[in-house]
Amino acid sequence: MQLQSMETYDVAIVGGGCIGCSVAYYLARDSALDICVIEKEHHLAEHQSGRNSGVLHPGFNYPPGSLKAQFASEGTRRMKEYFDTNDLPLDELGVLVVATDHEERRRLTEIQHQATENGVETDLLESQAAIREHEPHAVGEAALYCPEAASVDSQKYVYSLAGDAENAGVDFFSGYEVETIETNDSTHQIRTSNGTITSSYLVNTAGLYADTLAHQMGVGQEYRIVPFRGEYYELVPEKRHLVQSMIYPTPDPDLPFLGVHYTRRTDDKVIIGPNAVLAFGREAYANTQFDLSEVLDVLGYSGFWKLFTSLKMINVGITELNKSYRKTAFVDAAQKLVPEVEPDDFRKSYAGIRAQIVRSDGTLVKDPLFKHGSRSTHVLNVVSPGLTSSLPFGDHLASEVLSRFE
Ligand SMILES: Cc1cc2nc3c(=O)[nH]c(=O)nc-3n(C[C@H](O)[C@H](O)[C@H](O)COP(=O)(O)OP(=O)(O)OC[C@H]3O[C@@H](n4cnc5c(N)ncnc54)[C@H](O)[C@@H]3O)c2cc1C
Repeated sequence: MQLQSMETYDVAIVGGGCIGCSVAYYLARDSALDICVIEKEHHLAEHQSGRNSGVLHPGFNYPPGSLKAQFASEGTRRMKEYFDTNDLPLDELGVLVVATDHEERRRLTEIQHQATENGVETDLLESQAAIREHEPHAVGEAALYCPEAASVDSQKYVYSLAGDAENAGVDFFSGYEVETIETNDSTHQIRTSNGTITSSYLVNTAGLYADTLAHQMGVGQEYRIVPFRGEYYELVPEKRHLVQSMIYPTPDPDLPFLGVHYTRRTDDKVIIGPNAVLAFGREAYANTQFDLSEVLDVLGYSGFWKLFTSLKMINVGITELNKSYRKTAFVDAAQKLVPEVEPDDFRKSYAGIRAQIVRSDGTLVKDPLFKHGSRSTHVLNVVSPGLTSSLPFGDHLASEVLSRFE
C-alpha cells in the first residue's frame, strides 16, 4: 500500500513478522478499528519469521504452567488446523530427541514427565533397535519420540496470515521503516522512511528492533536484545535419506535453544543447525558481517557481560563460535546423532538471528514477554517457539490491546 497523505489509524502495528500479522488479524477480526501494519522491508517475513527451522514444537520440554508451554501446545494444535484449512505445506513427521550418554538418558525421563504435564504425547524408546525403527541412521542410548511435532513453511504461513488480515480490512505498508515516534496527548506520530502515519495506539512487534522502539517510548529500559545468530547447513540431496524426520539432541534445561539438530523441511531439504553465536549486528547474517554501532551497543551493555560471568556460559560461547568458523566442529556435533554423515555432505545454507532479551542483571528471558506503555503494547521477547505460538500469542495480544483501547 502507498501512503497518500498523512494517514490516520486507530492501531498501527510495527513489524510484519508472524507476531505482527497475527495480532493484526485477530484485532481486525474482533473489532471495527482501522488498523495498519508498517514493515521496513519490501517483503514480509524477511527476518526471524522467514529464517527459522520451521518446526512446530508442541512443548514437551518447556516448564509446565509457563506461558511458553501453554502457547506451544495450543499453538501446535491451532497451527495444524490453520495449515489444513488454508492448504499450506505441513508435514507431521514427529521429532526424535536422542540421548547419547547416561546423563542425557536420565534427563529424557524428566522431559517425558514434563511433556505429560503439558499434555504432550511422547514415547520413550529404550534401545538402539527401537530408535532405528523411527530413524534408521540415528544412534543413541535412548530417545523420546514426540509424534505431534511438525515441519512447516513459515514464509508461506506469514503471507497467508497477512492475506487474512488484509481481507479483514488491515492496510499494509511495506518498505516503510519506522524511524522515530512522537507521542502527544492522544496520538502517536510515527515517522517512517516514506512519510508520517498517525495512530491512537501502537503495537510494537519489531522483532530484532523491538527493544529500541520500546525504549524510545520509555518502556522496558531494563531489557535489551542481544542478537544470537543461528547458522544452518543442508545435506546434499544424495544424503537426505539419512534423515527421515527431525532428530534433536537432548536439550540442556538451562539453555534449551542450544544443540545442532536435523530437520526435514516441507520442500524435502534436510537442514542441520542452528548453532547460537553472538551476531556482530542485529541483521548480520553472515559471520563476516559487522555493524560497529550495534556491536558497541552490546559490548556497552552490562547485562551482556553479566550473562557471560559463569564458566559454563564462557565455554558455551567458545564452542558455538567454533561451530561458526570451523565446519569440522559443526560436523562433529551433527555426527553425534547420525554418524554416517561426512563433511562433504554439508553445504552452507541460510542463517537466522534470534532476538534474545537479556535483562540488565544478565538473565536470559525464556518466556514470551510484552509490556504496556501509554497507549502502546511492546512485544519484547518471542524466542523459539515463537512461530509455533504465533496464533494464540497474537490472539492474546489482540485482546490485551482491545481491553486497553476501550
Ligand atoms: C534460527 C532460528 C530458528 C528458529 N526456529 C524456530 C522453530 O523451529 N519453531 C518455532 O516455533 N520458532 C522458531 N524460531 C523463533 C521464531 O522464528 C520467532 O520467535 C518468530 O519468528 C518471531 O516473530 P516476530 O514477528 O516477533 O519477529 P520477526 O519475524 O523478526 O518480525 C519483526 C519484523 O519487524 C520489522 N521491523 C523491525 N524494525 C522495524 C522498523 N523500525 N520499522 C518497521 N519494521 C521494522 C522487521 O523487518 C521484521 O519483519 C526460530 C528463530 C530463529 C532465529
